[in-house]
Amino acid sequence: MYEDILVPTDGSAGASAALAEAIELAGEFDATVHSLYVVDLASVGTEVGTVDLVESFEQMGENTTEAAATRVRDAGVEATEEVATGSPHREILEYADDNGIDLIVMGTHGRTGLERYLLGSVTEKVVRTAEVPVLTVRADEDESDEAE
Ligand code: ATP
Ligand code: MN
Repeated sequence: MYEDILVPTDGSAGASAALAEAIELAGEFDATVHSLYVVDLASVGTEVGTVDLVESFEQMGENTTEAAATRVRDAGVEATEEVATGSPHREILEYADDNGIDLIVMGTHGRTGLERYLLGSVTEKVVRTAEVPVLTVRADEDESDEAE
């Protein structure tokens, strides 16, 4: 039923909870789990030092997706990893289109937002516009890296 599952990851507890769910599903369906980190150009800005900043975000993306892919492979599931640059929800949807993704699994919350909102803005945009099903996962409170 599912062959290619996309887990967009920003290194947050929410993304980690989504990954755990995706690994379970992929194990059942013998699917591949794709990890994608998007360097958010809007959050980098255009001031002096931007190039360095983009590079350090890229490095963080590589570390994050590599750790995710290792977790997937350690569970005996096939994994791929990718770092993209641009607007996160657009890059997520484009990756899904280009790679035959049939399910997107992502956190209700990420690194940058406020827990009191129902959904983070990236997840909300993906839920509203994706052509494939989107499964949203809430992190356990004690797993959250955000103080109240
Ligand atoms: P905000 O709307 O302020 O960003 P937030 O950070 O809590 O709030 P989102 O950014 O929507 O919420 O994060 C929810 C989920 O979206 C994360 O758990 C992760 O799965 C995914 N996500 C968010 N940002 C990225 C990113 N830059 N690259 C890949 N996935 C991302
Ligand atoms: Mn965010």
